[in-house]
Amino acid sequence: MGHSFQFDSITLPPEAERLRQEVRAFLRDEIEAGSFVPGSGDMDSKYNPAFSRKVAAKGWIGMTWPKEYGGGGRSFLERYVMTEEMLAADAPVRAHWTVDRQSGPVLLKYGSEAVKRTLIPQILRGECFFCIGLSEPNSGSDLFAASTKATKTDGGWLVNGRKIWTSNAHRAHYMIALLRTSPPTGENRRHGLTQFVIDLKSPGIMVRPIVNLAGLHDFNEVVFDDVFVPDDHLVGEVDMAWKQATDELAYERSGPERFLETIGALRGLVAAAGNAPDDRVAAGIGREVAHLKTLRRMSVSVAGMLHAGKSPVVEAAVVKDVGTNWEQALPQKVRLLAPTQGAVAGDNSTDFDHIMRYTTMIAPKLTIQGGTREVLRGIIARGLGLR
Ligand SMILES: Cc1cc2nc3c(=O)[nH]c(=O)nc-3n(C[C@H](O)[C@H](O)[C@H](O)COP(=O)(O)OP(=O)(O)OC[C@H]3O[C@@H](n4cnc5c(N)ncnc54)[C@H](O)[C@@H]3O)c2cc1C
Repeated sequence: MGHSFQFDSITLPPEAERLRQEVRAFLRDEIEAGSFVPGSGDMDSKYNPAFSRKVAAKGWIGMTWPKEYGGGGRSFLERYVMTEEMLAADAPVRAHWTVDRQSGPVLLKYGSEAVKRTLIPQILRGECFFCIGLSEPNSGSDLFAASTKATKTDGGWLVNGRKIWTSNAHRAHYMIALLRTSPPTGENRRHGLTQFVIDLKSPGIMVRPIVNLAGLHDFNEVVFDDVFVPDDHLVGEVDMAWKQATDELAYERSGPERFLETIGALRGLVAAAGNAPDDRVAAGIGREVAHLKTLRRMSVSVAGMLHAGKSPVVEAAVVKDVGTNWEQALPQKVRLLAPTQGAVAGDNSTDFDHIMRYTTMIAPKLTIQGGTREVLRGIIARGLGLR
């Protein structure tokens, strides 16, 4: 059989387009009420639990989760439309983003009944946020090298070691952590890792800030010193997490967040160029919008394939690779296209400078988070039968 990838052609169903109007109306009301200002935010102000509670009240956290657990029972395509509207409006969604996108689905699939019954309702109310504990000082792209240990004890496990680059660990309530429970075997070096849900208030946990290039405290080092985790906080099968952690990444890699993180620069350029841009600027804007439209179609296609029960791992990696490269290059392209300094009118000038500064400083991280460029290209090459 030949190796290839395929992007199915997807048309969003009418219920998704109806939802789009509902989300837009909600966002318009929120902007008018001053709950956030599009384009003014940095990563800090995008973490807004009060806003997350309002999103939850609309039923837009856990909207694809089973009704049995209080979820919305709606489709991936509806969720796609909701998330792209939130991101395009620059809404402050970071508090609930991780739990809605991946931790919640992982708990529903692999978590114990006790954890599901306790945590899922809090998550759905927008009161319980998660972070992801995969990376360690000596385990990044190669997750199977993780060495932070969970050792069996009476009624649970004792955790010792360190996680690093953990986004929002200083604000989240829980972490889903990938921990070593046995050594790898000769035949399978992926064997021996287990996922746990860890209450970040547990004694023995220290969260140390790491300030990023933009001067913000967004990620952390998390140190575990004999932290007790009860048995029912085990997520899935002991020693078999490699399968679960890989599933989780498919959700993480394909969404509109993989090309919309610096979109404010393009929006700023359109505003700065005004109604009569010169030919060079108009052509430049047209080119970037064409790229964006293509990326969006590819990303919607992956959402459609997930919805259809397929496993588009290679296609998701392509979306992330092409998408993050595009959004990473965007601020520099905008900088070259933008009207010269002083030509951007009045208040717009400050906003434009602000968004350019912010998007330029976050650009380097985009091709690292959620799988580096080289690692994704390795996955794509394998999918194409090239390695
Ligand atoms: C903004 C941001 C937020 C993050 N948030 C989280 C989080 O919340 N939770 C979490 O667990 N982690 C998080 N991370 C960590 C992120 O997942 C890792 O940085 C990433 O997986 C790379 O691991 P590393 O930094 O150890 O680099 P390494 O894996 O050491 O890679 C170093 C270089 O070697 C290359 N390389 C590595 N392996 C290969 C290979 N097989 N083939 C070719 N090239 C290779 C890489 O592409 C890279 O260029 C975050 C990172 C960033 C930038």
